[in-house]
Order: sequence, then structure tokens, then C-alpha cells
Amino acid sequence: MITKFDRLVVASHNIGKVREIRELLAPFGIITQSAAELGLPDVEETGLTFSANAELKSIAAAKAAGIPALSDDSGLAVDALNGAPGIYSARWTENDKGARDWALGMTRVQEAMDKAGSCATSARFICALSLAFPTGKARTYVGKVEGDIVFPARGSKGFGYDPIFQPRGHDVTFGEMNPADKHAMSHRADAFAQLIKAEFESK
Ligand code: IMP
Repeated sequence: MITKFDRLVVASHNIGKVREIRELLAPFGIITQSAAELGLPDVEETGLTFSANAELKSIAAAKAAGIPALSDDSGLAVDALNGAPGIYSARWTENDKGARDWALGMTRVQEAMDKAGSCATSARFICALSLAFPTGKARTYVGKVEGDIVFPARGSKGFGYDPIFQPRGHDVTFGEMNPADKHAMSHRADAFAQLIKAEFESK
């Protein structure tokens, strides 16, 4: 595999995301540095879509570092909630001290769905991966995985809303699935497959 560039910044302060992206890029011989390693500031996510927020993060990091940068913005969209929590997925998990509490996020989804009174359970995880360059240009790839919201939550693997998300065609939630199985079908894997196809050449 020959790549068009050999170094990039992973524009995230989330250690789990940086690790996952590093593992996915390792086979392509790309050296990655995280935003934290380069001392880059956190970027305020003021966009109204996953793609807009991913681009805010990737462009800021690429300009600051002077090399290409890759960012990830992701979340859960529930049809009965008109796509909520959506870009506010992380915020719905925050308690009054600002700390992330996954159980609280899932309870909020359940309460909102009860209030909405719809019997629709369809939902999807969405991931926008954005590759930006120091010139300020960015290309963004959006991946999805379709499924249903189930209560009560099941499984303790994964993170976030995994225990209430059952991917379509499966009878286990992401919280019950082995990480390798989840990673083979997830929204992030879908976005990565698109990115790799478009950005990397094989010779
Ligand atoms: P971000 O770090 O601002 O992109 O926030 C993404 C949020 O969406 C996370 O904090 C989770 O709550 C949720 N999320 C994104 N991807 C997943 C996933 O694969 N499983 C479960 N929750 C996810």
C-alpha cells in the first residue's frame, strides 16, 4: 500500500478514539500524533451536523499542526425523537458536574421515548470522519449502522449507548457483542472503509 501522505494528527482528545484510529491506520504505515501530544487546544463543537463538527475539529488541527488531521464526530439518532440525541449524544450523558454517565444518557433516551409516545424503535449510529489539510480544505466521510432501541439495556461491553442499541438483523445489542464483531459493522467501520477507499491508493 502506498499512501498520499505519511503523517497525520488525530484531532481528538478522547484517548479511546485516538487508539482506535491509530489501530485502523497502522496497516497503512501512517505515523499518527494525537492533538494532546501536540498540545493543540480543544475545539468548541458549534456545528449543527456531525460533518460540520468533525470538520471544525480536523481543520483547526491541520492548520495548527501544519500536517493533515483526521477527526471523528459521532452519536446516536433515534427516529421517534426526530434524530435526537444526535450531535448532542455526548451531552445527554453528562451529569450536573459535567462528568460522563452512560446510564444517565440511556435513561434520558428512555424517558424521551416514553414522552414521545411513538412505538417506533428504529435508530442509527452515525460517524463523520473528516480529513483536513493545512490549506483548510477537508473531505468528510459519513458512516452509519441501522438498528433498534431496546429496553432494558443489555450487556456491559462497549461504551455509551451500546447496551440499548441492537443492530438490524441481530439479536444481541452492541453492549453484548464482542468488540471485534461490533467493529466489523459499526458506523465508524463504515466511515473508515469509505475513507480508506477514497484516500489510499494500492500499487
Ligand atoms: P463525541 O466524542 O463528541 O463524538 O461524542 C460521541 C458520543 O456519542 C459518545 O459520547 C457516545 O455517547 C455516543 N457514541 C458514539 N459512538 C458510539 C458507539 O459506538 N457506541 C455507543 N455510543 C456511541
